[in-house]
Amino acid sequence: MHSESSPLGEFDLIQRFFKAGADAMRSNNEKVIALGIGDDCALLTPVAGEEIAITSDMLVAGRHFFVDANPELLGRKALAVNLSDLAAMGAQPLGFTLAIALPTVDELWLGAFAKGLFAIANQYSCPLIGGDTTAGPLTISITAFGSIPTGKAIRRSGAKVGDDIWVSGTVGDARLALAALRHEIHLPESDLKQIEHRMHSPTPRIGLGIRVRDSASAALDISDGLLGDLQHILKQSQVSAEIFLDQLPKSATLHKQSEDIQNQFAARGGDDYEICFTAPAEKRNSINEISKALNLPLTKIGRITDKVSAIEKLSLLNKNGDLLDDAITAALLKSFDHFAK
Ligand code: ADP
Ligand code: MG
Repeated sequence: MHSESSPLGEFDLIQRFFKAGADAMRSNNEKVIALGIGDDCALLTPVAGEEIAITSDMLVAGRHFFVDANPELLGRKALAVNLSDLAAMGAQPLGFTLAIALPTVDELWLGAFAKGLFAIANQYSCPLIGGDTTAGPLTISITAFGSIPTGKAIRRSGAKVGDDIWVSGTVGDARLALAALRHEIHLPESDLKQIEHRMHSPTPRIGLGIRVRDSASAALDISDGLLGDLQHILKQSQVSAEIFLDQLPKSATLHKQSEDIQNQFAARGGDDYEICFTAPAEKRNSINEISKALNLPLTKIGRITDKVSAIEKLSLLNKNGDLLDDAITAALLKSFDHFAK
């Protein structure tokens, strides 16, 4: 980009807020990253026997976050949601690029954004290797690169009849925090404190993705709501499934809400960034071991029932194993859609 009259020029800005942070990072990926920021392209050296996983996620002000959102948390989230996609395939992070449009050069904002961004980059050993900087409505687009032993990526298309369906952590908390911040529901301050970080600073389940890739048959990360996202696995695997609604893992905070809110938020609340995966029943012990090793709850919420060639079906069951009413099921299966009217 060619900058006009900003107080800090484009190149100084990149140097000060992005290249400096990238240079300061010690990463384990030096063998792979032959060249980082500074030239026309970054260079990655492919490792024999590994595939490179690539994912992009864009955050747009006013759509994915409030315009006045805390920039440090935004920096964390922008990278975390990309790492969550790497986690869902079982990839080890290698590095990322950042394309950013800024309405003005606000040094305080940039400093805080970079702090959050590099906190996550350092935590997951995923250095910034390039990007683009331009003036425009605040938009943050990250592309992350990861590595996976050839053939080991956990795809959405691998679920088999009889597989268990699992989900990590708890679901519905990010939606609960959003509801409280939008005043859709009243949540005591102490409760909001418990769950707010789930919305502002999701945890990419990188360790889980890597450990579970020998057990899982299919996986995805939950960004638009558990049951809506699960349907992507069903569609691509051409299978149907049943889910026990009361077994969806919920935080103590969500448990304090009405049963209807609990079900709605756990089943279709977005932004959880937990991993939903399927695995054959003989992997239950290994999966419980992974859960212990990571100190991360992994909960079996249902199973894959039939192979279908036409329309996959997701059935919801109550505590007694009875099918829920079609209308209730339909309402809980709808996930968030940016273009829905
Ligand atoms: P070009 O004009 O060739 O696209 P730029 O002038 O946009 O290059 O960028 C110069 C260098 O700075 C490149 O290596 C690019 O990858 C890097 N860069 C630009 N913006 C960012 C950013 N936001 N974060 C990290 N690196 C960046
Ligand atoms: Mg450029």
